[in-house]
Amino acid sequence: MNPMMNNKLLIANWKMNPQTEQQAIRLARAEDQKGIVICPPFPFLDGVKGKLKKAELGAQDLFWEDPPGGGPYTGEVSVLMLKRLGARYVIIGHSERRRWLGETDEMINRKVLSAARGGLKVILCVGEPLSVRKKGLNAAKQFVKSQLRKNLKSVRSPVIVAYEPIWAIGTGKPDHPEDTLKMVRFIREVAGFSRRVLYGGSVTSQNVKSFLCYKEIYGALVGGASLKAQEFRKIITIVKKL
Ligand code: PEP
Repeated sequence: MNPMMNNKLLIANWKMNPQTEQQAIRLARAEDQKGIVICPPFPFLDGVKGKLKKAELGAQDLFWEDPPGGGPYTGEVSVLMLKRLGARYVIIGHSERRRWLGETDEMINRKVLSAARGGLKVILCVGEPLSVRKKGLNAAKQFVKSQLRKNLKSVRSPVIVAYEPIWAIGTGKPDHPEDTLKMVRFIREVAGFSRRVLYGGSVTSQNVKSFLCYKEIYGALVGGASLKAQEFRKIITIVKKL
């Protein structure tokens, strides 16, 4: 584990951005700090890795099958391939993949097991939709508990959990930090030995401190703001001073 300054970790999830390797390398150089995990799209992993001096490399997904000689899984990427490219972390179960790719809790569980077995550090994303949160925080907790039970079934090594309420992702409407703290405490109780819990959902330089000031919140998973070098550097500066 490579905790950043003040024992916090920031994950930069670039999603399907930027559009060229040149842009990816420029962004990576600007964000290359200790304790940062940069997760570019697959085609840029190698180019970005070559430029990183302090940050670590993460992937945004992987496939659960990993036969030593490869296999008939069109479009998929294995743990071994990612490790050979220098990835140390992998995001699994992001709500965008659950939504657009139809990833089920069972598929996510297979991915977590495979990544953990292969020695990648897992960042497991969980979080409730707005329809559930409207029923209250307890309903959200039950939703997240069910995801954790299924996603971490038979998992015997610690993973990092990212609590990302779906309605807060990319909307500019982050969770209330006090509610996040309650949820993070709950996750630490129910997720067994996976006690490192991040928050994700519209994190910016304006609000990062209100979440990461709590010692139980281990760090942040940052999407949109990690695509803006200046803004992400501001976030890093704030976290360093916590
Ligand atoms: C994310 O990518 O998981 C995310 C939280 O995105 P954003 O920071 O843009 O809300």
